[in-house]
Amino acid sequence: MKTLNEYLTEAEQNHGHMCPGQVLGVRMAMAGCQAVGITEPKGSKRLIVFVEIDRCAADAITTVTGCRLGKRTLKFRDFGKLAATFLNTETGEAVRLVALESSRELARQIFAHLSTKKEQQLTAYKTLPDLCLFRGERVQVSVPEADRPGHPLARVACDRCGEGINDGREVRDADSVLCRACAGAAYYEVLEQVTLDSDEITRTEAVHAEQAYPGFAPTTFAVNPPERLCGARNGI
Ligand SMILES: [Zn+2]
Ligand SMILES: [Zn+2]
Repeated sequence: MKTLNEYLTEAEQNHGHMCPGQVLGVRMAMAGCQAVGITEPKGSKRLIVFVEIDRCAADAITTVTGCRLGKRTLKFRDFGKLAATFLNTETGEAVRLVALESSRELARQIFAHLSTKKEQQLTAYKTLPDLCLFRGERVQVSVPEADRPGHPLARVACDRCGEGINDGREVRDADSVLCRACAGAAYYEVLEQVTLDSDEITRTEAVHAEQAYPGFAPTTFAVNPPERLCGARNGI
């Protein structure tokens, strides 16, 4: 594991600025990994992190752990809490850490001589011991096979929109297989279909494809996309 300062430098680069959330997130991730016996979090294939907030600290936790949504090692549970659970998938050990509300007040009291709240919190979160910043609890978390890293276990197409659905996220009844959106849980409302312009790179690739596969002419699709190509795109 790197030092706090090394992680903070990295966190600032990844996140775009330094803030109390970076310090708390880095501290939380370092403590969480240690608590489940993971000393080299980055590159470890044993760690899954459940993060309970989508604010600054979440980026810092990613910086330290290397856990990402795209690797299925970062799970977002939208509870609005500055908390995260660190799961060692090899041993099954899991520890949930939550930032203490009292740490803000502690920062204000101990570092009252610093002029801004941000300075007070940055300094406090860098220097106070873990037990002043977090409460920890040993927990049990089960991660179903379909949520684990690795190749998708299953893939089906929605009967209504035709879009592909991975890993059992479809909604089934006696005679249909629907994606969650078509089953009524859409977070969006479709206004109209958009026409996608091919940029220069796409056109170059299209020319190569035409040369490689005689009879296949994607450059003309770019100008006037046929229905069947658009339908096929839905499966991607
Ligand atoms: Zn921030
Ligand atoms: Zn659908």
